Parts: sequence; structure tokens; C-alpha cells
Amino acid sequence: MKPANEDRARRWARLSETRDWDLAVVGGGATGLGVALDAAARGFSVALVESHDFAQGTSSRATKLVHGGVRYLAQGNVNLVREALHERAAMLSNAPHIAQPLPFVMPGYHWWERGFYGTGLKLYDALAGERGLGATEWLGSGQVRTLLPGVQPRGLWGGVKYWDGQFDDARYAVLLARTAAARGAVVLNHCAAVALQRRDGRVQGVVVRDAETGAEATLSARCVVNAAGVWVDTLRELDREAGAAPRKPLVAPSQGVHLVVDRRFLPGTHALLVPKTADGRVLFAVPWLGKLILGTTDTPREDLAREPQPFPAEVDFILRESARYLQQAPRREDVRSVWVGLRPLVRHDGEAGDTKALSREHTVLVSPGGLVTVTGGKWTTYRAMAEDVLDRCMAQGLLPRRPAGATARLQLVGAAPGRSLTAPPGEHLYGSEAAALRGLPGAEHWLWRDGDGGLSEAMVRFAARHEAARTVEDVLARRSRLLFLDAAEAGRLAGVVATILGDELERELDPAPFEALAARYTRLP
Ligand SMILES: Cc1cc2nc3c(=O)[nH]c(=O)nc-3n(C[C@H](O)[C@H](O)[C@H](O)COP(=O)(O)OP(=O)(O)OC[C@H]3O[C@@H](n4cnc5c(N)ncnc54)[C@H](O)[C@@H]3O)c2cc1C
Repeated sequence: MKPANEDRARRWARLSETRDWDLAVVGGGATGLGVALDAAARGFSVALVESHDFAQGTSSRATKLVHGGVRYLAQGNVNLVREALHERAAMLSNAPHIAQPLPFVMPGYHWWERGFYGTGLKLYDALAGERGLGATEWLGSGQVRTLLPGVQPRGLWGGVKYWDGQFDDARYAVLLARTAAARGAVVLNHCAAVALQRRDGRVQGVVVRDAETGAEATLSARCVVNAAGVWVDTLRELDREAGAAPRKPLVAPSQGVHLVVDRRFLPGTHALLVPKTADGRVLFAVPWLGKLILGTTDTPREDLAREPQPFPAEVDFILRESARYLQQAPRREDVRSVWVGLRPLVRHDGEAGDTKALSREHTVLVSPGGLVTVTGGKWTTYRAMAEDVLDRCMAQGLLPRRPAGATARLQLVGAAPGRSLTAPPGEHLYGSEAAALRGLPGAEHWLWRDGDGGLSEAMVRFAARHEAARTVEDVLARRSRLLFLDAAEAGRLAGVVATILGDELERELDPAPFEALAARYTRLP
């Protein structure tokens, strides 16, 4: 058996043969993986199952910012911002090869904007304290044009420069999974929780099904954590006593769209932030892995599609507002990828409907049967959320007390000094594992090239052997981010990636499903 299949078989054997887990976690996004890593780092025995791939849900579809959230500051939510700024520093220092500081410029087109926003950002600096990444600076219009070549110069008064961070969200998730595994956790993707095991009205475990083999196993656990993102309510329903009234949904999903275009629309290494567009929303133009991300939107939606589609008005909004702030307006035909994520906003009674008014903080709920559900929050605060979850589990007597703080300075697998994430993807994203990558067959066989990086045959093999990639989509959407950067190019590579991955997994893989997915990422409504 080849290493990738051997590794998966070993994980399944441990999952199905272990008698009693301290913790079973459902959901392999930022939230669930953060909980699994923290618990494993504290010495608990942990199993985590993810029905699709790590970060296949919301956690691969973020704006890629590691941030305190300047707009929450504008809403007066100082505690949320202070916590996020603290977490920003931890995220950057624990995986510096895939999470880096990023300078932002807010261009001002009204006389008052520079002073107004600059003062707010000085407060942002003060809240970050010694964890600050660089001081906020007031800029003249010439300086703004230098830092943001491509910005609309007409009517420009000046601007403000400040610092936040950016990261590769899906790769960060995979590293959380790998680091948790290195600490003894069993983490398995393509394996869904299909039922809860209940005894005497208490949740005592979870029934899981391996999507590859159809095999089922029951994981008995002292504590079950439901970290299924926007899908948490489905698992909460399974926790309902027969005959009891349906539970009120916890989540109000809100959709966010991003468009990706070439860097020529905003060359340079600074991101552009418009804090208040014509209709009061925020607009980002963020250089990322050799391309430019434009976004995002905040649109309530009822369904929970795995691949939500953008609404025409969302695409129009992003293009229209980008055209106001960029000298050269991106057109529909310039868009290389369009992707959509669902925010798991926490619904509070009386606030349904307007998701901008719903909570961006997280919620931890413990059901009468002992199911621990966590949702909401943001990527940047995943670590603090995990600490809150474990604290609740301990307070409820589901786990014995063990001190928090185990992950504050826990370096993720491969952590090494990094390079700006504005550069095209390449070996630098593998940190200290770059040498191991280079030792694999096909290190010089480039399937796609961008600058001195791209996607090599060795990267596909590495994804199978070390990063638990099981499908063409796992490779092209989340180990490499090509689907998000250039969907047409990703579609073209489906066949060759299927061949290399098929060799690693000892089976024939059909590229057609991924080709269809890539086509959707190229299509604007
Ligand atoms: C458009 C947008 C932009 C954003 N930008 C940022 C940003 O720049 N910075 C930031 O900090 N935050 C950002 N966020 C927020 C952040 O992305 C989310 O808060 C975070 O990713 C949520 O992670 P999660 O693990 O809770 O959910 P998910 O990532 O959705 O993970 C839940 C997982 O559970 C799995 N699952 C569901 N049911 C089952 C089951 N029965 N069995 C097993 N597994 C199951 C799903 O497949 C999924 O992978 C953004 C969000 C959106 C939507």
C-alpha cells in the first residue's frame, strides 16, 4: 500500500478501534480544528471528523485577513477588537510561512476622512499595544498614489496607512489538522457524523461514516463538540428527544462573494480598504498569491448550499464600487474566479433578517443532553474560541480541568520565517518542509507556472502523502489555491492532477466533477 492510503487506513483503524475518547469533534473548519488542536495539546484524547475536506466549508472562503476588524471598532465593539488583535499576533507568529503582516491604505476622497479614520486607527494601534505590526501613518495624496498604484487619483485628498495580517486560510486549516495529529489527535476528512449516540438522555458519542468505503464506526466520547459551521443546526436536530419540539435555529447564514482579478488593477504590495462604500458597506482590494481579491458582500440567505452561487446584484456591487476606487475598472470578463462563503452568524431573537445586526462574536451552547455547539466568530479568533469551548466543557464536568494557554505559542507544522503572501504561490508556503517537497518526484515538473512558483507535480504528491488530499478538488482548491486564483486554469489541470494523485492513491480518478466545479467558479450571474 502506498503511504497516503496507509496513513488513511491507520487513521480509520485508530478511529474505529479506540474505545473511549475524551473528545469527539464534528467539523474540520477553523473552529473544529482549533478545538481539536487545543484539546490534544492539553493531553486529551481527541477524534475529529470532517464530512468533506478540511476547510471545504466557510474556512477556505474568507477574505484571507488576520485582523482585529477595524469596522467593529467603528461599531464601538472594543472588546471584540482587542481580543482579535491579540489573536492576530498569535496566528502570525505560529505559522509565519502562511500568515504575514499586510499594510493597508484607506484612500480619502473627502477632506474629513483622513483625520477621522486616522484617529480611529491610532486607537486600533493602541489596542494592539506591543502586539502591533506597525504604526498608523497619515498620507498625502502623492504617497497614496505611490503605495496604491492604480488607485483612482481624481478627487484624492490623501489617506491613512495601517497594518493588519493576511493568510492562506485553507492551508492554515490543514496545518491545524496536521499539528493536532502530531499531538496525538485522530483527524479524518471525508468522514461524516451521521448520528449521535445517546444513552439515558445524554450524548455519549457519535456515529461516523467513511465516505470512501461506506464503513461506519461509533466513537464513544465523554464530550461531543458540534463545530459544523453554518450546518450546526442539523446536528442539533439529531440531539432532540423523540417527540420534543424542533429546536430554534442558531445560525442565520449570510453570504459573502469575492471576485479575483489580475494584479495589474492594483499593483504593489498594499491592500486597499474603503470603510464605507456608497451603501455603507466595506470594500477590500487585497493582493494575494499573485492576484487581487475584490470583496465582499453580506447577503442573508436561507439555504445552506455547499457551493452557494453569487447573486447578480452582489457581483454588480463589487464591480461598481471597485470601478469608483480603481483607475482601471475591472470588467466581468476580467474576473478569473468567483467564490462564495457562508458566514455562520449567530441569530438572536428579534434580530432575524438583517444579518449585519447579528452577532459576529461566537456562541457556545450546551444542550440538556450535553452536546456542546460552537458557532459564529471569525477565523482570526479561532484559538480563543477553542479555549472558550474547552472551558465550557470543563465547567459542565464533561472534561477534567486542565489549564488553558497550550496553543498560544504552539508552532504549527512547517513553521518558518516566511515571505509576503502577495507573491505568487510556491515553495515558500511549505516553510521548513520545502526541502522535503523538493525531494519528491516531479519537483521541477511544473504543471502551472507563476513567477518563480506555481504548482508542481511534487506539490500534488506532497498533498497526497502529507496533507491528506483525497480528491482533485482537495488539491486544486485547498492544498494549491488555483481554483480561487484562476478557475479556468485549475479546470485545465484537472486531468493531469487526477493522473498524479491517482498514482499516489492507487486508484483511477475522474477529473470531470472538478472540471464542472471550476466552470462554475468562472461563471458570473
Ligand atoms: C465571505 C467571508 C469572508 C470572511 N473573511 C474573513 C477574514 O478575512 N478573516 C477572518 O478572520 N474571518 C473571516 N470570515 C469568517 C471565517 O471564515 C469563519 O468564521 C470561519 O471560517 C468559520 O469556521 P467554522 O469552522 O465555524 O465553519 P466551517 O469552515 O464551515 O467548518 C464547518 C465544517 O463542518 C463540516 N461539517 C458539517 N456537517 C458535518 C457532519 N455532519 N460531519 C462532519 N463534518 C461536518 C463542514 O463540511 C465544514 O467543513 C469570513 C467569512 C466569510 C463568509
